[in-house]
Amino acid sequence: MEKYISGVVDNFLSVNERIEEAAVRVGRNPEEIKLVAVSKTVGIEKIRDAISAGAALFGENYVQDAKKKIEEIGHEVEWHMIGHLQSNKAKQAINLFNMIQSVDRMSLAKEIDRRAKQSGKRISILVQINISGEATKSGVEQEHAVSLVSGIANLANVKIEGLMTMPPYSADPEYARKYFRSLKHLREEIEGRKFANVSMKELSMGMTNDFEVAIEEGATIIRVGTAIFGKRE
Ligand SMILES: *Cc1c(COP(=O)(O)O)cnc(C)c1O
Repeated sequence: MEKYISGVVDNFLSVNERIEEAAVRVGRNPEEIKLVAVSKTVGIEKIRDAISAGAALFGENYVQDAKKKIEEIGHEVEWHMIGHLQSNKAKQAINLFNMIQSVDRMSLAKEIDRRAKQSGKRISILVQINISGEATKSGVEQEHAVSLVSGIANLANVKIEGLMTMPPYSADPEYARKYFRSLKHLREEIEGRKFANVSMKELSMGMTNDFEVAIEEGATIIRVGTAIFGKRE
């Protein structure tokens, strides 16, 4: 009998081709773009398929779900927290994840810092920006971003590596372009402040629907679930 092979391997390879094409189109080196395979709700088998295709970086939204998978699969691959994080889960999160992309408030940053210090670690984070100002989205409002970054910069066990955003959903990939541009401009503004202990290297933006546009606008990290693992239930 033939071994059952999910579409994940093919999907992963085709996403990588699209990344490369988008990068080349705007004269960027495809290697400066990291692909986070968003595995929320996805089972172990499909995650293993993705790893066999070359996936090295996974994104999860819920600490509890992620914990089970990470215990099973281990740290041969990197894990990023991309979902809303409650402060009371900070301790678990710093022990599970290589990066927390969803830090959007000082109270959470302080708790991550406190827990990281206890574990003798320094945790890489991204500051999540609510770039559209939409009430339902998580992330710090753009006008409060600089002051949040300057506050977090004082925390010794937290290292800001850049910014993350999730624009409102639209079926039209072009719709997100203005938001991706705004995030890039915000990065430039923060870079201009020259905060000690703050890097603005990473721009995490772009998902299944719009990752090519995000790459054209400067994304260094894209977060893709559906195009790799299929539609979520
Ligand atoms: C689910 C999710 C993604 C991936 O979304 P797709 O449209 O399935 O690619 C990316 N980022 C965040 C924060 C998510 O919650």
